[in-house]
Amino acid sequence: MSNPSLLILPGDGIGPEVMAEVRRIIDWFGARRGIAFDVSEDLVGGCAYDKHGTPLHDDTMARAQEVDAVLLGAVGGPKYDSLDFSVKPERGLLRLRKEMDLYANLRPAQCFDALADFSSLKRDVVAGLDIMIVRELTSGIYFGEPRGIIREGNERVGINTQRYTESEIARVARSAFELARKRSNRVCSMEKANVMESGVLWREVVTEVHQAEYADVELSHMYADAGAMQLTRWPKQFDVIVTDNLFGDLLSDLAAMLTGSLGMLPSASLGAPMANGRPKALYEPVHGSAPDIAGKALANPIACILSFAMALRYSFDLGEEAARVERAVEKVLADGVRTADLMGPEGGTPVSTSAMGDAILAALDASL
Ligand code: NAD
Repeated sequence: MSNPSLLILPGDGIGPEVMAEVRRIIDWFGARRGIAFDVSEDLVGGCAYDKHGTPLHDDTMARAQEVDAVLLGAVGGPKYDSLDFSVKPERGLLRLRKEMDLYANLRPAQCFDALADFSSLKRDVVAGLDIMIVRELTSGIYFGEPRGIIREGNERVGINTQRYTESEIARVARSAFELARKRSNRVCSMEKANVMESGVLWREVVTEVHQAEYADVELSHMYADAGAMQLTRWPKQFDVIVTDNLFGDLLSDLAAMLTGSLGMLPSASLGAPMANGRPKALYEPVHGSAPDIAGKALANPIACILSFAMALRYSFDLGEEAARVERAVEKVLADGVRTADLMGPEGGTPVSTSAMGDAILAALDASL
């Protein structure tokens, strides 16, 4: 049987720097755990524009459709700010998400104990936090028609339309229930069924999918505004939260920031299962290309490394190995190893991107 395949797209700015550390971890799995991947690498974003005049070459797009998972660093930078909208680096990422039809965006909010004091909330509210927001990514108010700014009499009117079909709701609900089964088996669905018809349908369809296919998972419902309050009051009450594109945009940013630095936050975007049963999948850190620190060896590689851990868990069913990576990260943080973005008021000497990679590899070695 052939090895699982990974397409690596480091991108721009700090993307290649953080991805270099992920490559070392991929190599470690091959050498020390006998888990080998067929890795190919290509361009996306500004660097692809520089070479091909487009932020994502058709060949790269085709390759992304074939592989078991895509791992992306970051795209963009000031050099490309004046480019036409159609060839901006971000268009490469948007094309990947759209053509792979990645409708479920997974944003974990996980608080490592050593960083609990980084949160704006009290330590006991966030320490040990481990929740997952599943945001519908390809429909809803960001895509619904009609949209635009029209003139009505003497004034302009801005219009956007919230629109969800049953099948769009059902498929993202399934993603959330499947994830819950790999975690603590609880899903909370959030909408505004009290004031929005799309919310009423959302609640009905999630309930139907639950009853028909996932009765073993505990399901609850909450209005999204109440959900925002509960996330800041006592986030540990949640396991998996599933919600629409707009509410998910807000709630996932809120939840992620409960836990501190941007350099720590991974994400995954999943689509429909492929012939081999694996979902179409793109894994990437939440952060951008950080042009202010690019090329200075200051970038924190943990968000990208944890994105690879998500790939191990959600694309390759290697949950134990994903947990091994997460424990290695936990250990280096507990040992006080910090990149510059993780320096607290107590100060200390930050380590470089590759030294953080060294420390995580040493912790992985120690885990055997
Ligand atoms: P950014 O995430 O790149 O940076 C915001 C701040 O966080 C900066 O001060 C940066 O130094 C810091 N930071 C980010 N990641 C870090 C890491 N791993 N380690 C240490 N510090 C880190 O956001 P921005 O400055 O708004 O955008 C910069 C460029 O990135 C823009 O061109 C933007 O369009 C692009 N961008 C791309 C993505 C993506 O590729 N998914 C996401 C957001 C922004």
